[in-house]
Amino acid sequence: MDHLEYLQKQSKLSLVLIWHENRSSYLSCRIESHKMVIRLHRMFASMPMLIWEALASYIFQKDKKARVVLKKAAHEYFSSVYLPPKPLLSKGSTHHLLLLYDKVQQEYFPSMDLKIEIGWAKKQKRSQGRCMTFGCFDSHQRQIRIHPSLDHPSVPAYFVEFVIYHEILHAILPSAISSKGRIQAHTKEFRSQEKLFFEYEKAKSFEKTFFNSVFRRVNFL
Ligand SMILES: [Zn+2]
Repeated sequence: MDHLEYLQKQSKLSLVLIWHENRSSYLSCRIESHKMVIRLHRMFASMPMLIWEALASYIFQKDKKARVVLKKAAHEYFSSVYLPPKPLLSKGSTHHLLLLYDKVQQEYFPSMDLKIEIGWAKKQKRSQGRCMTFGCFDSHQRQIRIHPSLDHPSVPAYFVEFVIYHEILHAILPSAISSKGRIQAHTKEFRSQEKLFFEYEKAKSFEKTFFNSVFRRVNFL
């Protein structure tokens, strides 16, 4: 039995199944002239029966628990897919991110082969990867992108290092998924590791001042 046959058995409407590779809406359904058109990301094709049962419960019964199962499966799939990164500039007018990254790596993660690229973000896209205000780790491209407003003489190197350290933690610590299917990147474990940064208190207090005095104004928050 193929995938369509499996779903069709559970519906009185006749079904049309369209496979696609669009990550942002991996599952959608609509009724079109007495037919139900189901658009599904291709990743589901190779997933086990358990996931197909969840797909059927969600599509035909709007089962919320099934939705959580699907969300977790999609999250696991997308976290494991590697996309070749677009090259980024790492040398700014004040800070050279690659040099700072190397310093942080040697100091805190000397034995780890992280295989991460780093560079200045062109503009911050909140939806890509796990983000804090000043930086972002994109797990698909294994890239850390730093907000360009940090490339300024008023921003001390230790603060840029702290942002890099924070983003590296995203790369090495797994995020948790709540019972409602929400992804929690800043777990307890994350926060306690974050505090191990040598100049944590200083960086946090700079963050506060900088965010309120410069960053908020420049970025119209
Ligand atoms: Zn974060």
